Amino acid sequence: MLKDLDTKLDDAATQAQVVGEKVINVLSRPYELAGHVYHSTPSLGITLFDGQKNSIDDLLKQADLAMYQAKAGGRSTMRFFSSEMQTVMLHRIALEADIRKGLVRREFALYFQPQVDVDSHVVGAEALLRWNHPLDGVVTPSGFIGLAEDTGLIRPLGLWVLEEGCHQLERWANDSARSHLTLAINVSAHQFNDARFVDQLLDVLARTGANPNRLKLELTESMLVSNVDEVAAKMFALKARGVGFSLDDFGTGYSSLSYLKRLPLDQLKIDQGFVRDILVDPNDAAIAKMVLALAKSMGLAVIAEGVETQAQREYLYRIGCRAYQGYLYGHPMTIADFELSTASNLAAVQAPQALLPI
Ligand code: C2E
Ligand code: MG
Ligand code: MG
Repeated sequence: MLKDLDTKLDDAATQAQVVGEKVINVLSRPYELAGHVYHSTPSLGITLFDGQKNSIDDLLKQADLAMYQAKAGGRSTMRFFSSEMQTVMLHRIALEADIRKGLVRREFALYFQPQVDVDSHVVGAEALLRWNHPLDGVVTPSGFIGLAEDTGLIRPLGLWVLEEGCHQLERWANDSARSHLTLAINVSAHQFNDARFVDQLLDVLARTGANPNRLKLELTESMLVSNVDEVAAKMFALKARGVGFSLDDFGTGYSSLSYLKRLPLDQLKIDQGFVRDILVDPNDAAIAKMVLALAKSMGLAVIAEGVETQAQREYLYRIGCRAYQGYLYGHPMTIADFELSTASNLAAVQAPQALLPI
């Protein structure tokens, strides 16, 4: 705690900043421990107070919050607590409580968006999470997934998604017109990195009776950068049971192409960010072509997401893409709407193949 700062807030802040910079400079110097040189990137949070209007706890919370902002701001830096920060924090706390309640009250639902083949026949769906909020109506994931990940709530939420998705697969398995449909489920990094993930999914598969061959997990590149070996081990364990893998938002992350070889992937998903302007932006078109060439050389399938127009679809077809998903074929919708709107457009069910004695 710095005492005897100037009574003018601006000047007090400047004085605190000068001290803060000194602290950061000193802590940033490399230091030696047991013969190894260590570097640290300290983050500093500062809150100014006058008198005893706030409790010690509150002040520490404010400084803590400012420190997290400093971390988010790139480390080796400092931030001052502000009342806007407080507003954001209170909003997050309320939202977190709301998500917990929503789980108990069964306010979450899966929507289904068709995935089609080269003949525009529906071959499967991607499950997309929605929150039927009692006040706000249908909320899309951008409004809550980030916080759910930060707070760990993504684990119960993600488990619910797997459970619900597998139940749906099992229902389709008993419907001769739909037994061939696959279901893609998004899995967040936090969820996949949980040591219990493989067991949990196998347990859900066993309990629901869903066919693992119809299940495709969508992973994102960001989860592969840090611990490829661990991710690969989990993927191989699930792959051995028949579960498939698609790499979502491909091309948007910090791809190290070398990891692709080490993972048992089935499909790359061209991100909608490249599809949007594929007809007008040569860079986007080049990336889409690169994804297709890469997939071909590695024996992987490709699906393009965010396909909105016939022209985009034609272009994708010309460069070799044979599977599509996007508003052109259907928005994400409730299961009732999905089954109704795709009923006349399902891919023909393949006749069961006979095993011939050799
Ligand atoms: P994503 O997996 O890349 O999903 C694609 C997003 O694009 C979805 O947004 C979908 O509604 C939207 N979309 C589909 N077709 C089109 C199109 O033609 N044009 C445009 N402009 N957009 C299209 P949504 O449903 O809001 O989901 C956003 C993200 O939230 C998803 O991105 C996924 O990363 C995440 N998410 C959704 N459901 C789950 C879930 O169950 N678990 C986890 N961990 N993440 C989820
Ligand atoms: Mg996805
Ligand atoms: Mg995507």
